[in-house]
Amino acid sequence: MTRVGFGFDVHRFAPGDHLMLGLVRIPHACGIEAHSDGDVLVHALCDALLGASGLGDIGHHFPPSDERWRGAPGRLLLAETLRILKQAGFRPHNADLTAVCERPRLAPHFPAMRAALAEVLGLPESAVNLKATTSEGLGFTGRGEGIAAFAVAMVVPSSLG
Ligand code: MG
Repeated sequence: MTRVGFGFDVHRFAPGDHLMLGLVRIPHACGIEAHSDGDVLVHALCDALLGASGLGDIGHHFPPSDERWRGAPGRLLLAETLRILKQAGFRPHNADLTAVCERPRLAPHFPAMRAALAEVLGLPESAVNLKATTSEGLGFTGRGEGIAAFAVAMVVPSSLG
Protein backbone atom coordinates (compact mmCIF):
# COMPACT_ATOMS: atom_id res chain seq x y z
CA MET A 1 0.00 0.00 0.00
CA THR A 2 1.57 3.26 -1.11
CA ARG A 3 0.41 6.63 0.14
CA VAL A 4 1.03 10.05 -1.34
CA GLY A 5 1.49 13.39 0.42
CA PHE A 6 2.00 16.99 -0.59
CA GLY A 7 4.01 19.80 0.96
CA PHE A 8 4.41 23.53 0.35
CA ASP A 9 6.66 26.13 1.95
CA VAL A 10 7.72 29.74 1.49
CA HIS A 11 10.47 31.81 3.02
CA ARG A 12 11.26 35.47 2.60
CA PHE A 13 14.69 36.58 1.41
CA ALA A 14 16.67 38.64 3.94
CA PRO A 15 20.14 40.12 4.20
CA GLY A 16 22.77 37.40 4.15
CA ASP A 17 25.26 35.64 1.93
CA HIS A 18 23.87 32.16 1.36
CA LEU A 19 20.76 30.00 1.13
CA MET A 20 20.33 26.49 2.49
CA LEU A 21 18.35 24.53 -0.05
CA GLY A 22 17.94 20.79 -0.31
CA LEU A 23 20.59 20.39 2.41
CA VAL A 24 23.12 22.29 0.27
CA ARG A 25 24.70 25.66 1.07
CA ILE A 26 24.38 27.97 -1.92
CA PRO A 27 26.34 31.24 -1.88
CA HIS A 28 24.01 34.08 -2.84
CA ALA A 29 23.58 37.84 -2.64
CA CYS A 30 21.02 37.45 0.15
CA GLY A 31 19.94 34.97 2.78
CA ILE A 32 16.64 33.65 4.10
CA GLU A 33 14.53 34.95 6.96
CA ALA A 34 13.59 31.98 9.06
CA HIS A 35 13.34 30.61 12.53
CA SER A 36 15.24 27.53 11.26
CA ASP A 37 17.80 27.51 8.46
CA GLY A 38 14.93 28.26 6.06
CA ASP A 39 15.48 25.26 3.81
CA VAL A 40 12.16 25.48 1.96
CA LEU A 41 12.80 22.34 -0.09
CA VAL A 42 13.37 20.26 3.02
CA HIS A 43 10.42 21.86 4.84
CA ALA A 44 8.11 21.06 1.92
CA LEU A 45 9.53 17.53 1.77
CA CYS A 46 8.96 16.97 5.50
CA ASP A 47 5.35 18.13 5.12
CA ALA A 48 4.85 15.80 2.15
CA LEU A 49 6.26 12.84 4.08
CA LEU A 50 4.17 13.61 7.17
CA GLY A 51 1.11 14.15 5.01
CA ALA A 52 1.55 10.85 3.21
CA SER A 53 1.77 9.14 6.58
CA GLY A 54 -1.29 10.87 8.01
CA LEU A 55 0.86 12.55 10.66
CA GLY A 56 -0.03 16.22 10.33
CA ASP A 57 2.62 18.80 9.46
CA ILE A 58 5.98 20.16 10.56
CA GLY A 59 4.32 23.05 12.39
CA HIS A 60 2.78 20.43 14.69
CA HIS A 61 5.93 18.36 15.22
CA PHE A 62 8.45 21.24 15.25
CA PRO A 63 6.57 24.27 16.65
CA PRO A 64 8.36 27.62 16.28
CA SER A 65 7.65 28.15 19.99
CA ASP A 66 9.92 25.19 20.89
CA GLU A 67 13.52 26.30 21.52
CA ARG A 68 14.76 22.86 20.42
CA TRP A 69 13.96 23.74 16.81
CA ARG A 70 15.29 27.31 16.79
CA GLY A 71 17.82 27.46 13.98
CA ALA A 72 17.38 23.73 13.39
CA PRO A 73 19.14 22.65 10.21
CA GLY A 74 17.07 20.98 7.51
CA ARG A 75 19.11 17.82 7.98
CA LEU A 76 17.94 17.53 11.59
CA LEU A 77 14.28 18.25 10.74
CA LEU A 78 14.34 15.66 7.95
CA ALA A 79 16.04 13.03 10.12
CA GLU A 80 13.51 13.65 12.92
CA THR A 81 10.64 13.48 10.41
CA LEU A 82 11.93 10.10 9.22
CA ARG A 83 12.09 8.92 12.84
CA ILE A 84 8.46 9.96 13.34
CA LEU A 85 7.48 8.14 10.13
CA LYS A 86 9.35 5.00 11.20
CA GLN A 87 7.56 4.99 14.56
CA ALA A 88 4.27 5.10 12.66
CA GLY A 89 5.39 2.21 10.43
CA PHE A 90 6.23 4.10 7.24
CA ARG A 91 9.31 4.80 5.16
CA PRO A 92 9.81 7.02 2.13
CA HIS A 93 9.50 5.52 -1.33
CA ASN A 94 10.26 8.51 -3.56
CA ALA A 95 10.01 12.29 -3.62
CA ASP A 96 9.62 14.97 -6.28
CA LEU A 97 10.52 18.54 -5.30
CA THR A 98 10.06 21.85 -7.12
CA ALA A 99 11.60 25.17 -6.11
CA VAL A 100 10.25 28.49 -7.43
CA CYS A 101 12.54 31.53 -7.60
CA GLU A 102 14.04 33.90 -10.16
CA ARG A 103 17.52 33.68 -8.65
CA PRO A 104 19.80 31.95 -7.92
CA ARG A 105 19.90 29.35 -10.67
CA LEU A 106 19.44 26.07 -8.85
CA ALA A 107 20.05 23.42 -11.51
CA PRO A 108 23.85 23.44 -11.03
CA HIS A 109 23.25 22.48 -7.37
CA PHE A 110 20.81 19.65 -8.07
CA PRO A 111 23.40 16.82 -8.14
CA ALA A 112 24.64 17.78 -4.66
CA MET A 113 21.08 18.22 -3.33
CA ARG A 114 19.96 14.93 -4.80
CA ALA A 115 22.89 13.05 -3.28
CA ALA A 116 22.43 14.67 0.14
CA LEU A 117 18.65 14.17 0.25
CA ALA A 118 18.86 10.57 -1.00
CA GLU A 119 21.43 9.76 1.65
CA VAL A 120 19.31 11.09 4.52
CA LEU A 121 16.15 9.51 3.09
CA GLY A 122 17.92 6.17 2.67
CA LEU A 123 16.85 6.07 -0.98
CA PRO A 124 18.66 5.67 -4.28
CA GLU A 125 19.25 8.99 -6.02
CA SER A 126 16.84 7.90 -8.74
CA ALA A 127 14.04 8.12 -6.15
CA VAL A 128 14.68 11.82 -5.45
CA ASN A 129 13.79 14.29 -8.20
CA LEU A 130 14.48 18.01 -8.18
CA LYS A 131 12.98 20.70 -10.37
CA ALA A 132 13.21 24.47 -10.50
CA THR A 133 11.13 27.08 -12.20
CA THR A 134 10.68 30.84 -12.16
CA SER A 135 7.28 32.51 -11.93
CA GLU A 136 7.97 34.64 -15.02
CA GLY A 137 8.50 37.75 -12.93
CA LEU A 138 5.03 37.48 -11.36
CA GLY A 139 4.16 37.57 -7.68
CA PHE A 140 6.51 37.49 -4.69
CA THR A 141 8.89 34.97 -6.24
CA GLY A 142 8.92 36.99 -9.45
CA ARG A 143 9.79 40.16 -7.54
CA GLY A 144 12.63 38.33 -5.82
CA GLU A 145 11.09 38.73 -2.37
CA GLY A 146 11.27 35.07 -1.46
CA ILE A 147 11.41 31.47 -2.51
CA ALA A 148 8.68 28.82 -2.63
CA ALA A 149 8.90 25.05 -2.74
CA PHE A 150 6.45 22.26 -3.52
CA ALA A 151 6.97 18.60 -2.72
CA VAL A 152 5.20 15.36 -3.41
CA ALA A 153 6.33 12.22 -1.62
CA MET A 154 5.19 8.64 -1.49
CA VAL A 155 5.58 6.43 1.55
CA VAL A 156 5.19 2.68 2.01
CA PRO A 157 4.80 0.53 5.13
CA SER A 158 8.28 0.02 6.55
CA SER A 159 7.70 -3.74 6.51
CA LEU A 160 7.76 -3.70 2.71
CA GLY A 161 11.20 -4.46 1.26
MG1 MG B 1 9.69 26.66 6.40
